[in-house]
Amino acid sequence: MTEDAEKLEKGETEAAQTEGASKEEETGALAEPPRPSYREMLSSPLGYVFNVRMLRRVVQIVFFLGINAYVMVSLFGGQQFVAFWTEFSHILPSIPILAPLQGPAAILAGSFDTLQREFSSGLFPFFTIGAMMIILTVIGRTACAWACPIGTIQDFATLPKRNKIRPAPSTEEEMRRVKAYIFIIVMFLVVWVGISRWTGTSDMLTAALGPFAVAAFDPFNPAYILFVALPNIISQHLWPVSLDTLWYILQWGWFLGQFVFVIVVVMASVWFPRWFCRWLCPAGWIYGVFSKDALIGIGRNPAKCTPETCNVCEAACPMNIRIRRYPYQHMHSPDCIMCLECKSHCPNKAIVVRFS
Ligand code: SF4
Ligand code: SF4
Repeated sequence: MTEDAEKLEKGETEAAQTEGASKEEETGALAEPPRPSYREMLSSPLGYVFNVRMLRRVVQIVFFLGINAYVMVSLFGGQQFVAFWTEFSHILPSIPILAPLQGPAAILAGSFDTLQREFSSGLFPFFTIGAMMIILTVIGRTACAWACPIGTIQDFATLPKRNKIRPAPSTEEEMRRVKAYIFIIVMFLVVWVGISRWTGTSDMLTAALGPFAVAAFDPFNPAYILFVALPNIISQHLWPVSLDTLWYILQWGWFLGQFVFVIVVVMASVWFPRWFCRWLCPAGWIYGVFSKDALIGIGRNPAKCTPETCNVCEAACPMNIRIRRYPYQHMHSPDCIMCLECKSHCPNKAIVVRFS
């Protein structure tokens, strides 16, 4: 058995094996992935247009429009586009992304958004949980990378800036815990409201919880703010246009705060790729729990991977995963969203998609 094959067998990690890797772990500093030279681009121009990165961008845009496909009808009369997405939503009524179905143009729902509403209505979401678990245990968090509109917004915001800020692993670990705490609080509230419906005490509780009563994460959910709150504010003209309508300020002021939060999510993504997904999204946390041991995952070919001298995959990873810490065979990370950025950037073609 070769040395590389032994490594594969034992699933050794190698970040701790090299001094360079240790320094990176302390500081979080990673070199940005190299960009192709013009000579390389000209030698294979089609390869730079038709590749997995470009395919993902296209799929992201299609899902972004498809999730709120009724917008297409009002803007362009795209009935066929809507018909396609309506059929899709019949097959998969909710998928593991962030997308509330309450938007005026919405066709597709996120599993977490649906879970909250079902719990707070006093129902147990058997079907939503079952479908979510099946999807996540087979294809992992692929929908986060390819379909979630909030992931898409962050990815596109990240594109213009090359040098990203990446916290040291210990800080990153601390920050990742925040989304788990948010998940626990949200679930506590929606289950509490659901139980109160059974006991007939829901009126007082929902009045006390206000905007947190139906789906407790909605007030901070960028998808809800953009696709539900924003169209409502616009269609109902809920902004102060004169002194007489200044009393709208209460409603408007709350929305303004939410909108500023969305702007912060987008702007911060320029320097911190997918920071909302990594640290704040409670949906991403529960999706990660079920997708950790998904059938499809990322692995590395030990015969091609050179972890002592190369960190290109880690520098390219928008989820800031220390890929070289994981076994070669299969990287069981709850944070991997299968965006395949590591695979696209690896200069040695060492990253492989595993089915196991
Ligand atoms: S972590 Fe949340 S916001 Fe990010 S892509 Fe997944 S569901 Fe969407
Ligand atoms: S490990 Fe690779 S596939 Fe997974 S999130 Fe990072 S770059 Fe994407």
